Amino acid sequence: MTRVFNFSAGPAVLPQEVLQQAAEEMLDWHGSGMSVMEMSHRGKEFISIYEAAERDLRDLLGVPGNYRILFLQGGGIGENAIVPLNLVGRKSQPAVVDFVNTGSWSSKSIKEAKKYCQVNVAASSEAQKFTAIPPRESWKLSRNAAYVHICTNETIDGVEFQYTPDIAADTDGAPLVADMSSHILSREIDVSKYGVIFGGAQKNIGPAGLTLVIVRDDLIGQALPICPSAFDWKLVADNNSMYNTPPTYAIYIAGLVFQWLKRQGGVKAMEQRNIAKAALLYDYLDSTGFYSNNIAKESRSRMNVPFFLKDETLNEAFLAGAKERNLLQLKGHKSVGGMRASIYNAMPVEGVQALVDYLKEFEKKHG
Ligand SMILES: *Cc1c(COP(=O)(O)O)cnc(C)c1O
Repeated sequence: MTRVFNFSAGPAVLPQEVLQQAAEEMLDWHGSGMSVMEMSHRGKEFISIYEAAERDLRDLLGVPGNYRILFLQGGGIGENAIVPLNLVGRKSQPAVVDFVNTGSWSSKSIKEAKKYCQVNVAASSEAQKFTAIPPRESWKLSRNAAYVHICTNETIDGVEFQYTPDIAADTDGAPLVADMSSHILSREIDVSKYGVIFGGAQKNIGPAGLTLVIVRDDLIGQALPICPSAFDWKLVADNNSMYNTPPTYAIYIAGLVFQWLKRQGGVKAMEQRNIAKAALLYDYLDSTGFYSNNIAKESRSRMNVPFFLKDETLNEAFLAGAKERNLLQLKGHKSVGGMRASIYNAMPVEGVQALVDYLKEFEKKHG
């Protein structure tokens, strides 16, 4: 068996230990004689899996007691509708929602929200081709916004918030909503600074099909009447994420990933490793004219690193050589072009080192 270094943006690499444990437990979970996939979501076995996953996630992120953790389906794209359906009802209609447009994913969120509210783009880096997070001082927030939406890590463009924006002075208590799909659990955050945090699992947590929502108590219970019941946070919260059948196997794998993260020393230790991994790659890209990354240094993502070869006619040869070395999924997103290396929590430093070694080797041959 050969395991490759998988630089996919998502679904993405998972810790090998987790996959091994899941394989060992596949046919018979803890003497139950069943696979987790075959269990009732209301049985005591699955409830124990669910409760452990919830508890471990709460520990890892330091989620305060006045926040609920919901395990949903629908992905990050689903939340682009589910969030307004749950939050715009707090204001008289049509409500205004503020967005900061930092790349492809916030642009998608804006487009979807327009079905449910008036959108105010408080700041945008579109004119700079999304190569930097617009400075907080430049945001034109609406005092009466129902909420303020940001995407804290733009998976496609490769920009990341390196701080939590403070919006209290410019709004009448609008909650900050963050799409953290592609960097949740990669760095320490202060959950209490946010009203809602959401993320699809397939980037940095586990299998596709699971979506996490962390929401402050007082923001639950004001869904618009047209909100689908399965996505009404109050119904979901009151039923401990079992209003409808949750994605049970994905929750189980996410739970194993949470246990793995704890064994690694938790989010703080992971963040130190992610800083080191990102530095290894960016430092090399910056040291040569053969490759480039054009993101403003203070906005560079630690998770998704887009880069270009100076001579783009070499792109195919670059990818073919990478594949020979078991370095996979390095082709950039079609909207940006070039290359992209996604180096999530589960990408070991050895993988990043192997990529840097290959970058050097390829440059030597073609530079
Ligand atoms: C991948 C991603 C999404 C979309 O997730 P889906 O599960 O495909 O709906 C949304 N936001 C961000 C930041 C992402 O990286």
